[in-house]
Amino acid sequence: MIEQQIKETVRDVMDFPKPGIVFKDITPILKNQELCTQIIDAFVERLSGLEFDAIAGIESRGFLFGLMLANRLNKPFIPIRKAGKLPYKTVKQSYNLEYGSATIEMHEDAFEPGTKILIHDDLLATGGTVEATSLLIQKMKGEIAGFSFIISLDFLKGKDLIKPYADKVVALAE
Ligand code: 5GP
Repeated sequence: MIEQQIKETVRDVMDFPKPGIVFKDITPILKNQELCTQIIDAFVERLSGLEFDAIAGIESRGFLFGLMLANRLNKPFIPIRKAGKLPYKTVKQSYNLEYGSATIEMHEDAFEPGTKILIHDDLLATGGTVEATSLLIQKMKGEIAGFSFIISLDFLKGKDLIKPYADKVVALAE
């Protein structure tokens, strides 16, 4: 089963990026082409009931499978980046972190108003990042079509922040 394979392949790294955190390192997945294809196949199958026009991937690990999935589904890919990385005019959204705050942005011409967008990231933790991404997309009059993650750390309750979309969240492993 895909969930089992993801869990067996992802590596737990202790105390990264700071003491007390157990970081789920997804890079071992990238060494296994067959598993990468199975992950994309699983996303395609599990997202088949959702209607969307484009995929927004969150820097940086959301670019990996977000772009592969967009390419497989023949849909545009929208990069959501940390502030200061995109070269053209941008729209920004700030959000709170445990200590301090962060800002994400996207190009102001990333999509047309009314575009239905699937938000993709490698992992859902507290939900702050995807919540900010949703606000950013709504600022630009995009419609949130749903969310996809390789892993959702359900004990961190990130899904609570995207509750209105509860039936539109695909996570391949928990
Ligand atoms: P959240 O905003 O939901 O708390 O954190 C999710 C964001 O932080 C995602 O962009 C994700 O890539 C990153 N992240 C947080 N914890 C982990 C982790 O343990 N493993 C990986 N791969 N990413 C993490």
